[in-house]
Amino acid sequence: MSVGAKKKKLFRIYKEFAKDARKYTKNIVCKPGCADCCIDVGSIDVTTLEGLVILDYLKTLTPPKQTFFQDQIKRNSEEKPRHRRLRCPFLNERNICSIYKVRPFSCRKLFSVETCGEKGPVIPRALWELGEKTVQKIYQLDDSGFSGHISYILMLLYNHKLRKSYLSGELSPSQLMDVIRKYNLIVNREMLKKQRILKLGTFRSTP
Ligand code: SF4
Ligand code: SF4
Repeated sequence: MSVGAKKKKLFRIYKEFAKDARKYTKNIVCKPGCADCCIDVGSIDVTTLEGLVILDYLKTLTPPKQTFFQDQIKRNSEEKPRHRRLRCPFLNERNICSIYKVRPFSCRKLFSVETCGEKGPVIPRALWELGEKTVQKIYQLDDSGFSGHISYILMLLYNHKLRKSYLSGELSPSQLMDVIRKYNLIVNREMLKKQRILKLGTFRSTP
């Protein structure tokens, strides 16, 4: 499947999740400007395919805006290892997402029935499970790619040589190891394998 077709499919997956999630989101308290989930404690996970979609969007902005976001992303990737809580590079000063239309699935799947604060979201179980199934579909779609914190993935994609290698599916094993170490990433297809093994383990232990 071409990258263009994958991007289209990604939006179909987002749409399907949004439709299926509707029945579980009656009691959620999420609203614009509420942004503890964007001031990240762990990692704002993004696949390489989602990173490409974000870069496509950034390319449509004016050159000064593009430079602004590139600087924000670089700063975030440098500060990430040193800070427990860090604002997403796309969260603006009014606590609104600057890339809402192309935000990754890790943001789309997040809903909470209680205000988060620093303790994190309380997600209805059915919604969480639906989100996890959808994450697997996205890994499957991008099974020659990587996942990791938003600014790490974007820094990888800003690297012309690595982006080209990823798009051609021709990252050499040594290049692959370098990328994983340097950008602290996981390989999507390995993640899928691990999830299959975990699932099998759970199935076997169920009476
Ligand atoms: S997940 Fe939490 S922080 Fe994010 S919008 Fe919902 S309630 Fe607010
Ligand atoms: S991409 Fe947007 S929604 Fe996601 S964490 Fe960043 S600011 Fe929040």
